[in-house]
Amino acid sequence: MEFNKALERFKEIIKLSNAYTYAMGVITFDSETAAPKNSVMGRAKASEIFSGITYKLTVNEEYFEVLDTLSSNKDKLDAITAREVELAVQSLSQIRHIPIEEYTEYRKTLTYSQNAWVQAKRNDDYSIFAPYLEKIIAFHRRVASLVAPDMDPYDYWLDQYEQELSTKTLDAFFDKVRASIVPLIKRVSERGDIIRTDFLERHCPIELQRRLSDYVMQLMHISRDDCAIAESEHPFTLELDKHDVRITTHYHEERLISNLYSVIHEGGHALYELNIGDDLIDTALAGGTSMSVHESQSRFYENIIGRSRAFVEILFPKIKELFPEQYKDVSLDEFYLAVNKAQPSLKRMNADELTYAMHIMVRYELEKRMMHGEITVDELPAEWNRLYKEYLGIEVPSNREGILQDVHWGGGMIGYFPSYALGSAYGAQMVEAIKKDLDFDELIKNDRINEITAWLTERIYRFGRLLKPGDAVRAATGKDFDPQYFIDYLTEKYTAIYGLDKE
Ligand SMILES: [Zn+2]
Repeated sequence: MEFNKALERFKEIIKLSNAYTYAMGVITFDSETAAPKNSVMGRAKASEIFSGITYKLTVNEEYFEVLDTLSSNKDKLDAITAREVELAVQSLSQIRHIPIEEYTEYRKTLTYSQNAWVQAKRNDDYSIFAPYLEKIIAFHRRVASLVAPDMDPYDYWLDQYEQELSTKTLDAFFDKVRASIVPLIKRVSERGDIIRTDFLERHCPIELQRRLSDYVMQLMHISRDDCAIAESEHPFTLELDKHDVRITTHYHEERLISNLYSVIHEGGHALYELNIGDDLIDTALAGGTSMSVHESQSRFYENIIGRSRAFVEILFPKIKELFPEQYKDVSLDEFYLAVNKAQPSLKRMNADELTYAMHIMVRYELEKRMMHGEITVDELPAEWNRLYKEYLGIEVPSNREGILQDVHWGGGMIGYFPSYALGSAYGAQMVEAIKKDLDFDELIKNDRINEITAWLTERIYRFGRLLKPGDAVRAATGKDFDPQYFIDYLTEKYTAIYGLDKE
């Protein structure tokens, strides 16, 4: 195919594909927030047709030819197009290498496995889920051997979620974190239950909580003309383009901070998307570069800003104003400590900042051994429980509260978990760099978080997917990723909160 023809066709297909993604995004958002229960039939029909069209848009001989032509003429492409081509080739590599029958068979397995997982969890019966997990792992090993025969199979899958991520990086990261954080968790646990949290469960009417959400979005300087907030079962962020980002939250009358920190977390995802550069509009690069860089931002706003003393100082008066009765016997200090309480727990989703990475480490160890064929699915639950005891010091009473708690493996996501922990660690390294340039706490206290966002925009947000995930930390800090920042951040914070002696 002639170069100019290929380039023109490529741009056309990206625009079409963006338009379909936009339409399907609105359908998804609507289904989670406003659509009535019986909308499922109509939506299923529409989604099936749309996904058929988008599949055919990129999985066909003509498009393969377009990509081959552009790939072999890389020197003629500008930086944005070159990166778009690189990502398109990567996303099609599996489909081009795996026999179609195997691929469809696997998609079918996934439908059943999700259902099996729900049943297994409900009945606390791991044996219902085990055969599906076995098939999922076998498929992942097989795909890796077909697409990237020279690569470690787990590295292949890590790279799918986070370009250039490998077990080498993660082993070093987790080894280091484990060596410092496991003893710190133990010391915190030994201090006993010294932080008061009773007031967090007091009844706070949803109507007033909505006003708190508005206030939080205002504190984060999120433009409401470009970002809407709605309610859904599980909070999430949907990005349609930089002028249409939507976040959701879930209100619990007896858990004020659940909504509060959901809004800050999703608001962090939103700020990333809202600040993508204008030069990327209509390209395939107009979005966050990876899951862990995205999580590094959401968890940065949620924890590093949102649970800081400075943020609590500007937030708490509003809480007192909206909920005078509920918070009349609560001091600012007590609130600050309560939102930072650390406690080893069984559930990853509810884990605090200190213990969170341990939950991920358990999953990482097991995924690695599964992908290397070093552990059978029957051996997994016992290993899960043993690692929880070792890292978090707790007994797992049942598989329902243990290995069956997460949806990811049943959904075919092997290699996804590590990005949650990496995201937290990236944020800790970034804040060190920010503090060199800006008066971080003063800005937060004085309602100038937008200046912190501008700093991140300059280095990360505006580049969207043009920036490789591994380069985000370097772009922001001028250094390679170093887990020591995360360890220092947690050690300093929790030593102060729990009044521990410095070691
Ligand atoms: Zn998130």
